[in-house]
Amino acid sequence: MTGNGKTWPDPVEWTGKIYSAGWRESEGGTLQVIEPATGHALAEVGVASSVDVARAGARAAQAAGDWAAAAPSDRIDVLLRASSALREHSATFRDWIVRESAGVPAKGDYEITAALAQLTHAVGLASRPPGEVLTPQTPGGTSLAWRVPLGVVGVINPWNAPLLFAVRALAPALALGNTVLLKPDPLTPVSGGVLVARLFEDAGLPDGVLQVLPGGAETGQAVAADPHVAMVAFTGSAEVGRVVAGVAGEGLKRVALELGGKNSLVVLEDADVDAAALAGAVSTFGYQGQACVAAGRHLVHADLVEAYTDALVGHARTLRVGDPRVEGVSIGPIISERLATRIERIVDESVAGGARVLTGGRRDGLFYPPTVLDRVDRAMPAFTEEIFGPVAPVIPFHREAEAIEIANDTAYGLTAAVHSGSVQRATAVAEQLRTGMVHINDVSAKDAANAPFGGMGLSGNGSRIGGSASLEEFTQWRWLTAPGPV
Ligand code: NAD
Repeated sequence: MTGNGKTWPDPVEWTGKIYSAGWRESEGGTLQVIEPATGHALAEVGVASSVDVARAGARAAQAAGDWAAAAPSDRIDVLLRASSALREHSATFRDWIVRESAGVPAKGDYEITAALAQLTHAVGLASRPPGEVLTPQTPGGTSLAWRVPLGVVGVINPWNAPLLFAVRALAPALALGNTVLLKPDPLTPVSGGVLVARLFEDAGLPDGVLQVLPGGAETGQAVAADPHVAMVAFTGSAEVGRVVAGVAGEGLKRVALELGGKNSLVVLEDADVDAAALAGAVSTFGYQGQACVAAGRHLVHADLVEAYTDALVGHARTLRVGDPRVEGVSIGPIISERLATRIERIVDESVAGGARVLTGGRRDGLFYPPTVLDRVDRAMPAFTEEIFGPVAPVIPFHREAEAIEIANDTAYGLTAAVHSGSVQRATAVAEQLRTGMVHINDVSAKDAANAPFGGMGLSGNGSRIGGSASLEEFTQWRWLTAPGPV
């Protein structure tokens, strides 16, 4: 609600529409947003067809010159106003995140806090694209190099942190003078698209600088292929990331890929077992395990494995499963039948191969309970595949080197956590893990606006988002020379 008692944002403005220099009808029809916990229809948004995307690309390219030339203070003002609007409407954002993405309110609050941090950090980037004064090749001449915007950036996002993933890409991209085409996931187009567009509309962002184009694979392909798009920032699965990279590669565009993970939480024999099990529970069961940074393997020293597993099962059994809007519920539904079926297959095949279910393991529709598996071997899908559900495979080890070898036995390389009574020892182990991120005596699932987020191997293409990494991702060098002073 706004101060004058009206609903913010007014559904009449955006229902069935896309945001492309104002709210407008699309040529791609509409899509319905369904609440996973109840099956109720929540909203209807426009779907951007390839024609809509082409028009949006042309508008974004047209708006790019003025936006790149705007004074940093103008860009900063927009980011600060967007930040104030996000604070003002945080209850609306929380409610939509809870209903669309099926996370508990604390997950909504986390996204809002993290998105605010991204906006604040982007304010600092707006006046920062650095340059270098180089030694000229002609005496008395000038040689300068500095970072300039790329132009139009296409942002293609998944459903699991719709607000945060939108803001973490578009805030630095806009701050650094780019224009943005944002394609939210069709499961979360309101919290990952409509509301974001309304924030920046209220913040006074000029028309065409940010456009929101909901839709599925076809819309995403059109964004990646659009000739006006200079860079694609994709967050999602490795499978689709490969396709998007191929399409963008055809156009010789920059591509930043933030993909999946098969992340290990390693517990050495001198670890505080209760603290490690709590970190393990949070890392695997939080938001039903539907996070790229969730722990997908619990590697526990054989001396501790019984105590650790008991504690993990204890946590799993205290977590109430249900509609995330109901007080006391910690575990909402899985986002879609497709994903719930996939989790079920991974667990069932692993059990058929000899794994044992210590708790959970059977779903009720979309509701999959926190599950702990032991007797997991390396041939089982619970070991090899990203599960993206609340399932914790526990694997014992005897030697530190063995733990490192098991953790590195994956093509992914996103994040990890190492638990030990000695931070130095844990750090030495952490340094041998092939991941873009690693955390000592903590959860595997962390992010910070000032840190380079991203992974190695199948978890990305070496791109990072956040902190100074965003400065590199969303700008490029220009070199200028002159025979005299400029
Ligand atoms: P997905 O790859 O299926 O979809 C992601 C986005 O791509 C969606 O917007 C979708 O509509 C779009 N898309 C689908 N097919 C496309 C195509 N052919 N061309 C262009 N766009 C297309 O992702 P998902 O399975 O819904 O999300 C979960 C995956 O995302 C997991 O693997 C998870 O680990 C990963 N993820 C990674 C990060 C990260 O920051 N590294 C964050 C969140 C999720």
